[in-house]
Amino acid sequence: MNALTVAKFGGTSVADYAAMTNCTSVIKGNPDTRIVVISACSGVTNLLVELAKGNVALDRQKAILTQLADIHFSILEQLPEKPSVAAAVNQILVDVSTFAAAADTSPSDKITDSLVACGELMSTHIFTHLLNTQGIDAVRVDVRDILKTDDVHGKATPDLVETSHHAQTILRPLCDEKVVVTQGFIGSDLNGNTTTLGRGGSDYSAALLAEAVQATTLEIWTDVPGIYSTDPRVAPAAKPIDEISFSEASEMANFGAKILHPATLIPAMRQDIPVFVGSSKAPKQGGTWIRREAEYSPLFRALALRCNQTMVTLTSLNMFHAYGFLAEVFNILAKHKVSVDLITTSEVSVSLTLDQTNTKGGAPTLPDAAEKALSKLCRVTIEQDMCLVALIGNHMGESRGSAAKIFGALEDFNLRMICYGASNHNLCFLTNTNESKDVVKALHKELFEAI
Ligand code: ASP
Ligand code: MG
Repeated sequence: MNALTVAKFGGTSVADYAAMTNCTSVIKGNPDTRIVVISACSGVTNLLVELAKGNVALDRQKAILTQLADIHFSILEQLPEKPSVAAAVNQILVDVSTFAAAADTSPSDKITDSLVACGELMSTHIFTHLLNTQGIDAVRVDVRDILKTDDVHGKATPDLVETSHHAQTILRPLCDEKVVVTQGFIGSDLNGNTTTLGRGGSDYSAALLAEAVQATTLEIWTDVPGIYSTDPRVAPAAKPIDEISFSEASEMANFGAKILHPATLIPAMRQDIPVFVGSSKAPKQGGTWIRREAEYSPLFRALALRCNQTMVTLTSLNMFHAYGFLAEVFNILAKHKVSVDLITTSEVSVSLTLDQTNTKGGAPTLPDAAEKALSKLCRVTIEQDMCLVALIGNHMGESRGSAAKIFGALEDFNLRMICYGASNHNLCFLTNTNESKDVVKALHKELFEAI
């Protein structure tokens, strides 16, 4: 199979002319790059989301439109004039005001998708033009003709069969001849309505396209040189990771390391496509390779921190030596569509945390009706203001002495919940928010900094 790289550049990587120029050097540096997936210019999606909420004062609407025009035209001004590109961007800006007016009177998830898609639609016009001026034969493709999804606006699920069909018939032949530039984040349903994969979804788009064209490598270019042992803002001694396995990296993404959209690795794993994460500002600095197997599988790999956790504790003496209690609890949760993240049990109580996937980063809440139904069965206590610290590694349970090391580092902290065992790759602690960064620091010092 011929080598084919899909390269994705995030919002900060295409923020302005200088940032976009760095991306062109990255693309030139790898002749196998045939598909380029890009995000909206940094900040643009946030502005569009603000318009989509509706009820925006007229002054503010005007200010946003001016800001959007400035962001895009300040890049175009530095490129040789191409009237068709300027006209295309102008037309999208007109569409933005039309959708914003519609959202103002009756906002909806459907209009929001059409509105926020405009960011990627504009950035790709400009970036294609930039590549062409730099001597790369590039063509812009509207990804809505390729990436097909269901019609759940705001968080659509890709239709893999349709997407693969369009990728094979449209994209694959095109990229034999040209570098294809296309949008991340957006797609369309089977009726052609614009959909989106959720905030930060461009990584996921790139992985889906890589899977659909059977690419040999996926590159995710962002503003950090790869994945670190933890967030360097929390523990400045954090170290870059050269290579990590799919399983470890998925745990990290799920547990809040904000480098990759959590779904990104799923298509890569299905198709066994190695993923590289690096910084478009400093490509020479290297980055992290994520593969099925990493050559080196250390006991402790990384620490991730995810805040805004909600813990629900259910206590009942009826649980004592009884059967069916948990089944009843989960029936109620399922009936109210409550998704559970972590769980621990004791003889008379169960503690669980609520899944945060659909809360846009906020703390999930237990619906009143679910709380009411559970209260008939047991005492329900809900606590918030907690963070989850996840220690990612390999076979931590099978290594003598590792527990002593981990818990020794944590003796001064109040741990609310500890989960280990279901996966070989993670050990999770629930801590109070005010202590959570110190927990990460203490663990990082003990497990990653001591020689
Ligand atoms: N532009 C979208 C966002 O800001 C998608 C992305 O950047 O991945 O959420
Ligand atoms: Mg992004």
